[in-house]
Amino acid sequence: MPRDYYDVLGVPRNASQDEIKAAFRRLARKYHPDVSSEPDAEERFKEINEAYAVLSDPEKRAAYDRFGHAGVGRGAGGFGGAADFGMGDFADLFEEIFGFGGFGRAWSQTSRQRPRRGRDLQITLTLEFEEAVFGVEKEVQVTRNEVCHTCGGSGAAPGTQPQTCPTCHGTGRIRQTRTTFFGTMVQETACPSCGGSGQIIAQPCPTCRGRGVERRTVRKVVNIPAGVDTGTQIRLSGEGEPGTNGGPRGDLYIKIKVKPHKFFQRKGDDIILHLNINMAQAALGAEVKVPTVDGEEILRIPAGTQPGHTFRLRGKGVPHLQRPGRGDQIVVVNVEIPKHLSPRQRELLEELAESLGTEAKPQGRGFLDRLKDLLG
Ligand SMILES: [Zn+2]
Ligand SMILES: [Zn+2]
Repeated sequence: MPRDYYDVLGVPRNASQDEIKAAFRRLARKYHPDVSSEPDAEERFKEINEAYAVLSDPEKRAAYDRFGHAGVGRGAGGFGGAADFGMGDFADLFEEIFGFGGFGRAWSQTSRQRPRRGRDLQITLTLEFEEAVFGVEKEVQVTRNEVCHTCGGSGAAPGTQPQTCPTCHGTGRIRQTRTTFFGTMVQETACPSCGGSGQIIAQPCPTCRGRGVERRTVRKVVNIPAGVDTGTQIRLSGEGEPGTNGGPRGDLYIKIKVKPHKFFQRKGDDIILHLNINMAQAALGAEVKVPTVDGEEILRIPAGTQPGHTFRLRGKGVPHLQRPGRGDQIVVVNVEIPKHLSPRQRELLEELAESLGTEAKPQGRGFLDRLKDLLG
């Protein structure tokens, strides 16, 4: 007599579909014959599948609740074909749980022996503002797997050699005929003796414990091009984790982060600088020195310059990353009003105030502002 389906999945009789699905996932993961080391894995797996096929289908579940195993066609002669139980759905679910189809679909070939590219790695590199503007050569450190220096990658202790696996004769795969509740299936799986590698390491290397690789921190000199900014990624091809089965190494991505500057500010490839001038410079005009990333430049402030006015220093910005040329430096002028006056300054300003008068006038609005209001 087959076990009660609810007992098999370990759920109460009033379990929701979500609870049933969750229980099935947990158990399928534990008992899948390709991954499980439990002695009765295959038997249990079959049972779990069967229980789930019924309890996940509302109609079959209702029949089972009323008539027991007889209600879902579970007789002495074994269980029905795959079509009854929506094998397509199962395959999807397995794909989701294990990342491969449920029934040993040449898993050993696809997952174990195919050359695989190594994983990509990412590190963050913090640069000074000027380093990002003009480019720089930097040394970075990355911790990754490297061929083990003790065994040279074989995984075998020094003086020993890996042996050809006697179970699979070096192929890494074994063929099994298996009766599942979907019918008889010929299945090729990873060799359990060697884990699919085709080789047995009798005495594992003490450094890498047979893995053939070890973690090492390596230093790399990187040329950072002029014009990078926070968020720019630089790819170092083939500097990621090593591949397996002869696959290529992954890549190393260097993610740039730029420290803020004391007074420069990036806006794309333009550099913004806020500059304080005094009232007299604004009113009378002046020639002032302004810092740029190339050193000091003379900026001519015309008489009558208003607060907020901007000046553009062409070609004094950041070099474009992908094409020739540079951005501009934009100087935003702020007119500083003195907070402390010497007696003499006060005297002069009072004299000026007298000549300017006491009237305060509303500021006239420009034509465009008025037009914008009109158009709403
Ligand atoms: Zn080693
Ligand atoms: Zn083997």
